Amino acid sequence: MTLNVSDCGGGSEAAALAWSRIAAKLRSRLAPVIFQQWFANIVPVDVEEQELHLGVSDDFFADYLTEHYGDMLRQALADIDGIADFRLTGGFGLPEDEPPVLQAAPEAPAAARREGQGPGRNRHSFANFVIGEENRYAYSAARKTAEEPGIYNPLFIYGSSGTGKTHLLLAVAHEIQEGNPGAKVKYATCEEILNSYVDSLRNDRQSEFRASLREADVLLVDDVHHLGSKNALQEEFFNTFNTLYARNRQIILTSDRQPCEVKGLEARLVSRFESGVTTEITAPGFETRLAILKQQQQQQLPKLDEQILVFIATNITANVRRLKGALLRLVAYASGLGCKITMEIAEKVLAKLIEEENAAKMVSVETIQQQVARHFELHVSDLLSDKRPRNIAEPRMVAMYLSRKLTNCSFPEIGAAFGKNHATIMNAMKKVPEICERNEQMRRSVALIERQLKR
Ligand code: ADP
Ligand code: MG
Repeated sequence: MTLNVSDCGGGSEAAALAWSRIAAKLRSRLAPVIFQQWFANIVPVDVEEQELHLGVSDDFFADYLTEHYGDMLRQALADIDGIADFRLTGGFGLPEDEPPVLQAAPEAPAAARREGQGPGRNRHSFANFVIGEENRYAYSAARKTAEEPGIYNPLFIYGSSGTGKTHLLLAVAHEIQEGNPGAKVKYATCEEILNSYVDSLRNDRQSEFRASLREADVLLVDDVHHLGSKNALQEEFFNTFNTLYARNRQIILTSDRQPCEVKGLEARLVSRFESGVTTEITAPGFETRLAILKQQQQQQLPKLDEQILVFIATNITANVRRLKGALLRLVAYASGLGCKITMEIAEKVLAKLIEEENAAKMVSVETIQQQVARHFELHVSDLLSDKRPRNIAEPRMVAMYLSRKLTNCSFPEIGAAFGKNHATIMNAMKKVPEICERNEQMRRSVALIERQLKR
């Protein structure tokens, strides 16, 4: 049977339809591990002038796929009327960045319900989650919630990007759904909810919008920090929250920061969000990073040497998504060239990623000044002034100390940023550890600010 994609709606819909057909064919022809590695994360983007546009994580993958699987792709699309060729481009998320599953948000795009992502094929499971010091508590809370929904309510998981929040959220969702197939488990990102809300306003269908959220037995909302400053949506969300909560329906939320740190989030929502269990996931430490790489390698070929895994774990530090991306890139390189990955190759292939990583780690002196001022409830101008009282002079030294510690700036450069000479900065480098030694409060403050800056 042929499929004519020009019969169905817009370009993106046609692309999704065509891709589901092509993917099914490829899946039947390829070993599961290969399909998973190369095709599972392709995003159908558009059909234009008979050309199917497919998106992958980066140009490297696009080139690799075109070179190695181009003919197979062309064969697979041959009997789809309305499509003559395909085009692959990078820039569509990192390899592991697939859209969520289960019941998509009200009126979520069709692409969010991609083929083959039913609960049975869940990559975001508890079993696939590597437990480390940084996520242990969040993991246990998520597990407990999956086993006994309604006890930790709401469960609020926060942490910076790529630390596994969505993974845990989906793991809970799947586990509950599997144990109770009739349950209405609703997952949505905050942005999807915002879009549905805006649509509902436009089409005068607010009651449907409300009902779609409030009928949920379990509501999982990802990235609620996006609620900040969206007042009308906050009002809606507040009411939905209360309705579900009153019925003892489980609510799970994720965010990139604590409720009280979300700018423009109404106090009443902050207090609702904090009323259950709030748990943080911090950036994975070296052991966790290495364990994640090893776990990933179980499903990959070829296997890389331990020292290569150590190299990746040492250099890609803040974000598991990037960590997995780096690994996949090397695996792809090795399988593409049929060669063994040496340290030299690894360094070359990952050079750009590592450079980005290092650049992202650098904070500016200005940011440090702002963070220190905020912490001590001062103005940046106080830090730049000559005021002598201890409650100003000590924070000023802390800002200087952290500037030297966390940036690549020289003493004279930091001096200039504070309107002081380099000797003042050197003095601060000596003094701050001394102050911390005798003042526990200060030691904690410095550690906290440093952690916040490194996020
Ligand atoms: P976040 O939602 O915090 O930005 P994700 O949950 O999307 O992060 O995680 C990014 C990627 O890293 C996903 O592919 C996820 O499966 C993976 N990941 C994160 N933490 C872990 C972990 N502890 N074990 C295994 N995979 C992880
Ligand atoms: Mg996420």
